[in-house]
Amino acid sequence: MKKFALIGHNISYSLSPMIHGEIYRKMGLDASYELISVDMQELPLLAERLRRDYDGFNVTKPHKENIIPFLDGNPPKSVNTVRIENGKMYGFSTDGYGFTKDLKIRFGDIGKIGGDALILGAGGVARVIIEELKNQGFNVYVWNRTRDKAEKLCEEFGVKFTRLQDIKPDLVVNCTSCGFRKGENPLVGADDDGTVRNLLDRHHVKWAYDTIYSPPQTDFLYCNRASKTANGLGMLILQAIESDRIMCGFDIDEMLEREIYNELMDKLSSKIASNV
Ligand code: NAP
Repeated sequence: MKKFALIGHNISYSLSPMIHGEIYRKMGLDASYELISVDMQELPLLAERLRRDYDGFNVTKPHKENIIPFLDGNPPKSVNTVRIENGKMYGFSTDGYGFTKDLKIRFGDIGKIGGDALILGAGGVARVIIEELKNQGFNVYVWNRTRDKAEKLCEEFGVKFTRLQDIKPDLVVNCTSCGFRKGENPLVGADDDGTVRNLLDRHHVKWAYDTIYSPPQTDFLYCNRASKTANGLGMLILQAIESDRIMCGFDIDEMLEREIYNELMDKLSSKIASNV
């Protein structure tokens, strides 16, 4: 039996065992997938145990960068997938794949059209999505609650910082962790006179994507007037499929990927809806 895991901290909520379990079942692989919650001090010992006893693992918050010193080869700056081969651990990131693929599934091939994209947030996921949207030909603008973090990120990626009041984007992507609770919305703030309002002029927004998937309809998606909206569940599923191509060597073609995507979207949407 092959052994896989997700390492992170406080991850008991994770849908990953269910997603990977379904993929292994579909691909006829006898494999286990466990959740391992670990803090920084425990990471070196765990890394050695994983190298010795496992076939691969996924990485989530807060260890996507912390894991890098334990890896072989040239890993990317943020790692969510590790393949273990002959005692060597190779790191990859599949979040970008998951996002871009889902954007195309949900909104059509908008990459060909491009336009102005506004990224809310300046954390790990924002980094990945800025890079993806730049590659798709969008003009990328970044806003973040902590302005200097956004400005640093903009300098690194050669994109522009914006205030929410100053932009009329075609696409908005919420990459903040604001939205898990009712009423939380990164777009809502106080005007100069103290009036609370949505600080973005939403009338121009064609597409709104929230990387958060639980609740399925965040306030950010609800209050947006975008003609098309999507939450991050598809991104989660697609990054997992790509990760299993890497960790397990699965040959999953476009058709099979779509079949797994549709099945998991149905299953997980009902599970999430019953939990909120
Ligand atoms: P992170 O590195 O911790 O960054 C969090 C970001 O959220 C920061 O920019 C932070 O702003 C901002 N933020 C937090 N609370 C806020 C608030 N109340 N109002 C406005 N901004 C706030 O997190 P991450 O790893 O990038 O993850 C970001 C989101 O992506 C999470 O919600 C996570 O669930 C989601 N995600 C989804 C997938 C998927 O597959 N769908 C995968 C990974 C992550 P400051 O800089 O001001 O603190």
